[in-house]
Parts: sequence; C-alpha cells; structure tokens
Amino acid sequence: MDIFTSYALAGAGALVGLGLMGLVRTDQPRIRQAVHLYRAAFVCLAAMLLLAFGPAAWQPTLGQFAIGLAAMGVCLLAWAFRQLNGRRTHPAWGGALTLSAGALLWGVAWWGDAAAFVLAVSSVFAIVSVVLLLDQGWLILRSPRVTPSELGLLVVAGGFATLWLLMLWHGLTVPGPYPAHWLHAPAWLLPWSGVSFALLPLSVAAVVFAIINDRLVQQLHARALSDDLTGALSRRGLRELGERMLALQAHQAHQVAVLMMDVDHFKLINDRHGHLVGDEVLRHLTRIVREQLRDDALLARYGGEEFTVLLPIRGRGEARVVAERLRQLVERTPCMTRQGPVPVTVSIGVSFHSEGASLEPDLRRADDCLYVAKRAGRNRVVFDDAQQAPAVPARS
Ligand code: GH3
Ligand code: MG
Ligand code: MG
Repeated sequence: MDIFTSYALAGAGALVGLGLMGLVRTDQPRIRQAVHLYRAAFVCLAAMLLLAFGPAAWQPTLGQFAIGLAAMGVCLLAWAFRQLNGRRTHPAWGGALTLSAGALLWGVAWWGDAAAFVLAVSSVFAIVSVVLLLDQGWLILRSPRVTPSELGLLVVAGGFATLWLLMLWHGLTVPGPYPAHWLHAPAWLLPWSGVSFALLPLSVAAVVFAIINDRLVQQLHARALSDDLTGALSRRGLRELGERMLALQAHQAHQVAVLMMDVDHFKLINDRHGHLVGDEVLRHLTRIVREQLRDDALLARYGGEEFTVLLPIRGRGEARVVAERLRQLVERTPCMTRQGPVPVTVSIGVSFHSEGASLEPDLRRADDCLYVAKRAGRNRVVFDDAQQAPAVPARS
C-alpha cells in the first residue's frame, strides 16, 4: 500500500473516532473528561489528511506541520487512556507534554535538517508509545480483573511501540535519503508501518469505545448491587457477591462467618429526631463498620436498619473478636448530627457458613441469634454455638 494512502486512511479513521466519541453518553465526570481528550486527540490525528491531500506546492512544510499535530494527538491519546483508567494527570503536565511534542517536531523541522527531523519523529513517537505500553501494562498487572478491551489496547500499544523502535533504530544506523512521506523504515517494514498507521486511529477508537462501554456496564452493575441510602451492598448484591465468596471459600483454607446486625431501638431514634437523622445514623453506621472491615469482607444493608456482614475468617475465634469489636465501636462512636450526638448500639447474631449449603440457612441462623440477643437485652453479640464447627478444608 502506498504510504500516502495509509495517511489518508489514518486521517479518515480519526474522523470516524471523533464521530464515535460524539456518541458516548455518560454522567461520569471521569469518563466525560477522557472523551474530551479523545476528541482533541482525534482532531489532531485527522491532520494526517493534510499529508495525503495537502497541495504539493506546500510540502514538505504542510507534511511536517501535520506530523507535529499527529504527535500531539498520540500524546493526547496516552493522557486520555490514563484518565479513562482513573489515573489523574495534572492538566498542566498533560498540556505541557502534548505541546512540547508538537513544538519539538516543528522546531526541528524549521531549524534542523532532514536527518534530525527523521530522528526526532521516531524518538517522539517511540517514547510516547512505549510510555502508553508501560502504563497499560502496569494497570493490567495491578488489576484483579482484566477485560479483553484492556488487553486489546495493550496489543495496539505494543505493536505501535515496536514499529517506532525499529524505525528509530533504522534512523540511527542507516543514513538517508529520506522519503517525502518521512517514514524512514527498512523496506520490509514499510508495508507494516503503512497498514498500522492506517489502522491505528480506527483500532484505538474501537478499543476506547469498548473500554468505555465496559466501564459503564460495570458502573450500572455496581449501582444495581448497592443500596442508594448507604452505599453498602443491596440484598441482591449480597446474594450475588456472597454466593461468589462462598464458592471461593470452598477452595481455600478459610471459613465464612455471617453477621446479622440490627440497630437497637431505631424506631425511638426516628421518633425522637426524625427520619432524616435516622437516615444519617444508617450512613454513619455503614461508614464506621466499613472502615473496620478488611477489604475481603462484604457489608450489605439487608433491609431497614439491619445489616449483614460476610466475613472470611481463619477460625471461629476471629469472628468472635471482630463481632465484639464492631459492637463496641458502634457503642462508643455516636453519630454526630445537626441535633447533636446520637448514641447508637447494635445487636449482632453470628452464624458460620457450613460448606456446600447456600447462604439462606446461614442468614436464618444468624437472624435467630440476633433475636436471642434482642431478647437478652440488646447491645450484645450472640453466636450460633449449637452449630458444629465444619472441618477446615485442606489447602489445595
Ligand atoms: P429493636 O431494638 O427491637 O430492633 O427495635 P427497633 O425500633 O430498632 O425495631 P423496629 O423493627 O420496631 O423498627 C425499625 C424501624 O426502622 C422502623 C422503620 O420506620 C425504620 N426504618 C426502616 N428503614 C428506614 C430508613 O431507611 N430510614 C429511616 N430513617 N428509618 C427506617
Ligand atoms: Mg432494630
Ligand atoms: Mg430490624
């Protein structure tokens, strides 16, 4: 394929990407900002059209100007991917890097010779694509769940970085003559570069669209599984994630304790201070309990003023310690409201998951213990001691 055709395809692909970004609808500021950055990136990359269709009399200046813009476009892409993945780049930094990539190439085009321009182009594109590759690789290494679209981006960034490193190496080792299209690559690499340039904006647009779609689906899912008032899991969330935790437990050497926690005399709090203060107490309770629990525990609002905790434990003694610590924490941490501090206490019933059974019987047994705690005077923890301790499965 003629390289100018691939530049034309790259520019056209960037316009398609711009159109796709116009279709994204989201109320998430993080994704919205990323979409703005992608739009700016695709506008810059669309300058590749100037390389293909700019009047011959204005070349090579127009071509060099377009390559500078494309370098800015690739910087903006790297910035946008960071933003999409929830990693902040200070706008001053992102803006400065983007502008300096363009300024560097224009400066070299103006003051340097053809060899300097070829080296500057391959250095800038190689650096940006390697940074994007490392950034994405680091993200994938650290995240517990990787989506195919995130892997797709890794492959695109990896391919692009390899191409540019090869061209940089060629530029350093093989002197000119330099072609009018500025891709100073070994003959065998040129078709690959052409195809990859033609495909880059389109493949990036598709990957971005898929990643944004994943994020929005995850967000909708998380919203469906959490409780509006407190942000704890909803009952549905408890079922879904709880069953998953129990299935995992079967393969590991720990048990799961089920805590049912109910606010004592909550009706009195509502009657005395009003429903809004009651709501505040529920949020306060969720916050302090959440802070106390390890990340692998699940906290759900089971209903009204009743909460459930699923707690992975090494032994029953650990559940006793955690439940008692939660009870004491709530007792000594009144909820600070506009009407002054409101003291809160909770009663807790604790059962232990028996391997193989579903969550329902565990919840029922914990609820029975909770009832016993209430009848015994509230603000206490009652364990399902009648329940046989299940054998701890051997670690496989
Ligand atoms: P006990 O110690 O026996 O648990 O007494 P209690 O008053 O806490 O229990 P009861 O079940 O009699 O009352 C629970 C109250 O919780 C009644 C209901 O109006 C209130 N409630 C349920 N959901 C909410 C909510 O989302 N916000 C507020 N403010 N109150 C709620
Ligand atoms: Mg209650
Ligand atoms: Mg209740």
